[in-house]
Amino acid sequence: MAVRVIEVDEFDLVVFGGTGDLAHRKLLPALYHRDLDRQLPAGARIVVTARRRYADADYRDWAAAALGEHVADLDEAALKRFLARIRYVPLDVDAGTGWSELAAVLEERPDVVRVFYLAVAPDFFGPICEGIGGEGLVNATTRVVIEKPIGKDGASARALNATIGAVFDEHQIFRIDHYLGKETVQNLMALRFANALFEPLWNAAHVDHVQITVAESLGVGGRAGYYDAAGALRDMVQNHLLQLLCLAAMEPPESMDADSVRDEKLKVLKALAPITGDSVDRLTVRGQYRAGASAGGAVPGYLEELGRDDSRTETFVALKVQIANWRWAGVPFYLRTGKRLATRVSEIVVQFRPIPHSIFDPEAGPIAANRLILRLQPDEGVTMQVMIKDPGPGGMRLRQVPLDMSFAEAFKVRNPDAYERLLMDVIRGNQTLFMRRDEVDAAWSWIDPILDAWAAGAGHPKPYTSGTWGPSAAIALIERDGRTWAEDGL
Ligand code: NAD
Repeated sequence: MAVRVIEVDEFDLVVFGGTGDLAHRKLLPALYHRDLDRQLPAGARIVVTARRRYADADYRDWAAAALGEHVADLDEAALKRFLARIRYVPLDVDAGTGWSELAAVLEERPDVVRVFYLAVAPDFFGPICEGIGGEGLVNATTRVVIEKPIGKDGASARALNATIGAVFDEHQIFRIDHYLGKETVQNLMALRFANALFEPLWNAAHVDHVQITVAESLGVGGRAGYYDAAGALRDMVQNHLLQLLCLAAMEPPESMDADSVRDEKLKVLKALAPITGDSVDRLTVRGQYRAGASAGGAVPGYLEELGRDDSRTETFVALKVQIANWRWAGVPFYLRTGKRLATRVSEIVVQFRPIPHSIFDPEAGPIAANRLILRLQPDEGVTMQVMIKDPGPGGMRLRQVPLDMSFAEAFKVRNPDAYERLLMDVIRGNQTLFMRRDEVDAAWSWIDPILDAWAAGAGHPKPYTSGTWGPSAAIALIERDGRTWAEDGL
C-alpha cells in the first residue's frame, strides 16, 4: 500500500547538541528517512551546532558515518541530497561563542519555519533559550523542541518552563515525549475513536484492569552517574507511562486538535488518586537490580556499575494507580517499568471482565477474559485475545486465540521511528503529540509526594536479580488483588 507523503513547508532546523547520542541515533536517521520519502522541500536546511570546531565537510562525514550505522540500505543519491542540506556552526553555550555566526546563517532565510531542537543536557535549556531570545532569533514561525527530562520535581520543572516561557509562547514550545510518536500509541486513539466497537466497553463496567509495562533488558551502563540522580519514577513514569495512561483513559476529545486532546489528558492527570504518606508502601514497589544473567551473559549489578554502594535510586518501579472519575472508579491501572528485566517490551494490556455466566460444559475448558494488547516495542502491533471453538468435529472445546492486528505486517510498510513523525509535526506546527505546560505540572504534582515519601522513609529499593521481572513484591502487588501480570508475547 502506498503511503501518502505531504511535503512540509520550507524550514531551517537548528539542532543544538548535534554531535550527541540523540542526534547520532535518532534525529539524523529520522530526517534522512523523511528526505528519502521526499517530505523535505528542496530548500530545507539542517543547521547543526555543537562545541566541536568542525567545518561543514567534517560534520557531513560524521553524519554519513552515523547514518551508515543506523540506517539499513542507505540510498547513495538520497544520502548526498540529505548531506548537502547540512550546515555546521560551532557554538559553545558556556563560553557564549558562535551565536552571531548562527544568527548570520538564519538571517539568510528570515521567512521560513525556524525550529530550534535542544538535544543537549537540561542545564543548557535555559541558557540556550536566553541566547536565542537575546540574539533576536525568534520569528513568527519559530518553534522550540525540548527533550526530557523537564525538571527533577515540580518546582524545578516550573522554573524551567518559566525560563523557556520567557522567550517562547506556549504555542511555540514542543515538549517531546517520543512514546507519543509511536505508531501503536496513535493506533490506540484510532482503535478507540475510529471504531464503534471498543468505546462502549471502555469503562469500569467492562474493563477489569489495565496494565502498562515498559521493560528494558539493558542496564544503565555508562549512564549510571546521570541515572542515579533520576531513577525509574522520574525517568520513565512521570512522562512516558503517565502519557500512555492518559491516552488509554481519557474521554473522547472534541477533535484531534492539540488543545482538545491535551485538555482531556490533563483531566486524567488531575483525577489520579494521590499516593501519599502511608499509602506509598501499599501502592508502590521500588527495586534495584543486582548482578545476574542477561541475553549476553553475566552482568554486574547497579551498585557495581555506579561504583558506590549507598545509592537508594530505583531502577524498577511498580505502581497501582486509581483514576477517581466515573469512567474508571474501581479499575486499577498497574504500571511497571525497569532496567535489566527479563526482556525488552513495552505494552498496554486492557483486561476485560470475565463473562457473567458460562453455558459450556467444564470439559470445554476454561474461558479466559478478553484482553486487548497494544505492543509498542519491539514489534509494534495490536492483538485482541478472544475465545473460539477448537476447529474439528467432536465435542465443544474452547480455545483462546490472538486476533492479530499488526499493521506493519498487514500493510507491508516500514515502521517509521517515532522521531520521524514528531519532527514533521514540529515543522507543521501540530502540537497534538507534545506535552503542554500544565500537563507537565499536573504529572509532577502527582509524582512529587511519592518521591517525598520514599525520601523520608528509611527503606531501600528491593533487590532483584538482573534478567528477572523485578522484585517479588511487584508480583505480590498485583496478585494481592487476585490478578497477574500479563505474559502474552513476553
Ligand atoms: P550527549 O551528551 O550525547 O550530547 C550532548 C551534546 O551537547 C553534544 O553534541 C555536545 O557537543 C553538546 N554540548 C555539550 N556542552 C556544550 C556546550 N557548552 N555548548 C554547546 N554544546 C554543548 O547527550 P544526548 O544523549 O544526545 O542527549 C541530549 C538531550 O536529549 C538530553 O537532554 C537528554 O536527556 C535527551 N534525551 C536523549 C535521549 C537519547 O536517546 N540519547 C533520549 C531521550 C532524551
